[in-house]
Amino acid sequence: MDQEAKRALLHKDRQRVWHPFTQMKDYALQDHLLIEKAEGIYLYDADGNRYYDTVSSWWVNVHGHGHSRIKQAIARQLDETDHIMFSGFTHRPAIELADKLIDIAPCGLGKVFYSDNGSTAVEVALKMSFQYWRHVGKPAKSKFAYLENSYHGDTLGAVSVGGVDLFHSTFKPLLFDGYRLPSPLVSEWSDGRPTPEAAESSVAEALEAVRRLFESSAAEIAGLIVEPMIQAAGGMLMHPAAYVTGLRELCTRYEVHLIADEVAVGFGRTGTMFACEHAGISPDLLCLSKGLTAGMMPLAVTLCTDTIYEAFYDDYETLKTFFHGHSFTGNPLACAVALESLRIFEEESVLEHVGNVSSALREQIRRFEAFSHIAGIRQLGMVAAFELYEDAGSRRSYPFAERRGYRLYLEALKEGLILRPLGDTLYYWLPHCTSTAQLEDIVDRTCTVLERLGYR
Ligand code: PMP
Repeated sequence: MDQEAKRALLHKDRQRVWHPFTQMKDYALQDHLLIEKAEGIYLYDADGNRYYDTVSSWWVNVHGHGHSRIKQAIARQLDETDHIMFSGFTHRPAIELADKLIDIAPCGLGKVFYSDNGSTAVEVALKMSFQYWRHVGKPAKSKFAYLENSYHGDTLGAVSVGGVDLFHSTFKPLLFDGYRLPSPLVSEWSDGRPTPEAAESSVAEALEAVRRLFESSAAEIAGLIVEPMIQAAGGMLMHPAAYVTGLRELCTRYEVHLIADEVAVGFGRTGTMFACEHAGISPDLLCLSKGLTAGMMPLAVTLCTDTIYEAFYDDYETLKTFFHGHSFTGNPLACAVALESLRIFEEESVLEHVGNVSSALREQIRRFEAFSHIAGIRQLGMVAAFELYEDAGSRRSYPFAERRGYRLYLEALKEGLILRPLGDTLYYWLPHCTSTAQLEDIVDRTCTVLERLGYR
């Protein structure tokens, strides 16, 4: 693209577009990256510069950008139907996708409710759980428990169960009350894994807090919502599987729904198809989006148990309908894409490849151990993270105003890397199609940038 056309577009972008999660002042100081092409793991800007999309375009992309099978699936579906409403109407892609999802999801989840983004998948789960308890004669069970540093989306219900004050505290007057539980924070890591001692104490303390809460208040708690294995937006906080197993036991014992928000971690990102598999458990409600369509189309689902579904069955004497549904619910194009993505998973042994690349990732990130300002190096599946510290030994952070993570992001762009920070936490959230050679190159480039900014 010629420079004049580029400047004109960016000028209009500044004038006309409000981008999410971006401070206005940054519009003035820094151009947005004008992306013209996306292919595989790469994005190309208007000047032809190539960038590794190490964050899978906000954690959604799975098989790489521009995958030919996905493109063909959209075209095929367009020949049959574009969007059609989903109340009173149904269609083949939604039916087949629901069937497939129930097949591969943790067992016990028998029904699929469609929506169109991760936040609404969470809203649906909260509303279903809340309404369920009313139908079974326990209306006092109306509150939700959630974790510190949890993130479940930006709509008001999802924000009410969000635990990241930076994002959520402004909206407090609009939110419903819940119970905030401590995160199972792991401080010590070795070879990308929590050390056994750190794992044991973090799990024991965090589960004890849940037990105490349930002991005193389960009669008024409908559900507990958790991002299994990785609290992503809260800082890529990884917890041991034993924590999720413990939550399942406590939720069952105290009659509280376990709501697994796998919007971010579902579809192989942690190495298994669903993160709950690490713990060998099934939740009562499961929220999925992002990777559901391999990151190609907006679609989300909330899966629930038959027990929950059946409590909504109406004899017309009581009003038990679930009054929730979005215009683009169950979009046929998106469902067709999701089905094609799941075929690719099977036919191209995607999880096997993820297993190999994630082992290489665990090895590669050990190179960050040589940097004295880095701590908390961790990894699970295609996700790895580390933190920048003024003093890594005592975990003394840099002053907030120094925006170290953001500065590293800007520097990484010059190296052809998109390293979107969460504060001073840097992470990779790699697409499954990443090759081991690309992975090595990504880590090489990251080390170059770290070196240049003096983190050695
Ligand atoms: N839950 C989790 C765990 C997420 O990470 C996100 C988005 N990052 C959401 C829900 C919300 O999804 P969406 O942005 O599609 O609304």
